[in-house]
Amino acid sequence: MTSPVDPLAVGQKMVAVLDDGRRTGTYKLAVAVALLDLAVELAPADPDAKVPIDLDVLTVRVMEQYWGQLRPFEGQVLRQSSDGRSVILKALSNLRNAVAGHREIPLETAKLLAPDAYEFCVAAVKDNVVRYPLKLLQNVGTSARAEHFLYDEPWLDSATKRSIREHGNQIWLLPGVARSLSRLAPLLKPAFQLAWAQDVRGMNSFLADEPDVAQHLFGADRVSLTRPAEVLAAAYGPQCFYCASRIRRDRQVDHVLPWSRVGLDGLTNLVLACASCNSNKSNYVPAPGLVERALGRGRESLQELADGIDWPSQYGRVESAARGIYVTITTATPVWHERSRIEPLTRVDFVWPVDGR
Ligand SMILES: [Zn+2]
Repeated sequence: MTSPVDPLAVGQKMVAVLDDGRRTGTYKLAVAVALLDLAVELAPADPDAKVPIDLDVLTVRVMEQYWGQLRPFEGQVLRQSSDGRSVILKALSNLRNAVAGHREIPLETAKLLAPDAYEFCVAAVKDNVVRYPLKLLQNVGTSARAEHFLYDEPWLDSATKRSIREHGNQIWLLPGVARSLSRLAPLLKPAFQLAWAQDVRGMNSFLADEPDVAQHLFGADRVSLTRPAEVLAAAYGPQCFYCASRIRRDRQVDHVLPWSRVGLDGLTNLVLACASCNSNKSNYVPAPGLVERALGRGRESLQELADGIDWPSQYGRVESAARGIYVTITTATPVWHERSRIEPLTRVDFVWPVDGR
């Protein structure tokens, strides 16, 4: 028997992780952000449910965060640890070299272009993630006995490939933790990214006065969206997804579910938008009907369009993330309906999945 988890208590402990001044690398932050994103996508209907986290999925989420961060900033790849050595960055750099010539592509595109190098990278990153940041994430402060408030997996202390296999290649978030993290994600994710940017500043002394580090590390422009824009215009016409006006110049690509919230670059989450809708929508959660329309373009046709440019579609992830967002936000949360119409969420009245299956 376990009593329901208090989201506030989980939040306080996550803040303690954040405040821990002993970080010598950014990897725990990356794992924490990956868990927050996964908690949103996996947000269970039962608030007290235990939720399994597949270790390969977790690994790829960590890789996705670092992937765009490898592009040089003022000519240099930023250090992510005090000593500048990093198994994770080295593995990702090797993958990046394997797809050299393709500029700023999503990680899933690299997987398609260089499958062997990708698998090699996943194995190396997973080994490191499991043995260090995942094992150490909950060790906060100076107490000898860490309180395991997210997951309690003693076998992580001496994890091997074999023990990972024996545990089903997964860890279990404790009862109530997934729901708590999904509710806290809108607050905690920006806080973790802020701490991450501060750590990176400390690890790269030439950045001291550079204001744009966070944008470089976490901004939506980490990936070039030129090709999706062309495909969307060809398939759905050159008009704004939101106001239907014909876009004559300054065609922009908008993330339907805000990039800052879920970080999904898949074609399912992308639409063409005019500059004024795009800037007005900003980081707001979209009205459910807009997600429904984006998904309503159809799983198969989006996949086909995405395949044509070696781009991820991420239909399932967009669907899961949207469900997670709407089941966890409160009815008072402002959502964006159209330009200059931002209203509290009143109800979510569409049925998942919208694709007829
Ligand atoms: Zn518009």
